[in-house]
Amino acid sequence: MAKQVVAKKEATPKGFKPLATDIKTAPDRMKKILATLRTSYPDAKCALVHKNPLELLVATVLSAQCTDERVNIVTQTLFQKYRKAEDYAAVEPEELQEDIHSTGFYKNKAKNIQGACRLMISEHQGKVPDTMEALVRLPGVGRKTANVILGNAYGIPGITTDTHVIRLSRLMGLSKNSDPVKLEYDLMALVPQKEWTNFSHQIIYHGRRVCNARKPDCDHCSVRAMCCYGRH
Ligand code: SF4
Repeated sequence: MAKQVVAKKEATPKGFKPLATDIKTAPDRMKKILATLRTSYPDAKCALVHKNPLELLVATVLSAQCTDERVNIVTQTLFQKYRKAEDYAAVEPEELQEDIHSTGFYKNKAKNIQGACRLMISEHQGKVPDTMEALVRLPGVGRKTANVILGNAYGIPGITTDTHVIRLSRLMGLSKNSDPVKLEYDLMALVPQKEWTNFSHQIIYHGRRVCNARKPDCDHCSVRAMCCYGRH
């Protein structure tokens, strides 16, 4: 037992692994974490600017390996030019690649956006589907992107296991899993369903503002008393 505590004290944020005893106390700690995050970030919301499900789908695909700020700059003009799934499907790939170039990985992203739009046209009357099953069939859309769309475009709760959610959940001792799907299910068991989407936004805000990946600011953290990494 003593050996485990020493290991926790010395662990870097990156190398930190919650103990089995941490996971046992997660349900009780989670209630306090939720209440604290709600107070700290009452206005937390999706950072990707969008007006409809298609815009959110495209913005989320573009956000892979890119900052939300950069995506929002690119989509400001992109969404003026492409208004329907048919618009993306009809354009030459090279033209779409040029339009999204600065978000990186532009060839693959253009291919996925066009593939998703063509499938939506053939199977969903050009609309973004509103079920997990249908969404994950679209090229470039995994559970993470699907949950972003369900939660923010359709009001269907979902936990988005992005890099901040995975990192903070492990540091807080809410899950020992780093696999996004396993971690998503661990969090689904701890967070009331109606709060899944908001919890995702709040923990992402916390990761950006306080719990930095390289140097978490534990001294100024509102959830420190409930966090397995921060309280040692
Ligand atoms: S105490 Fe706060 S800042 Fe420190 S690791 Fe935990 S969540 Fe991150």
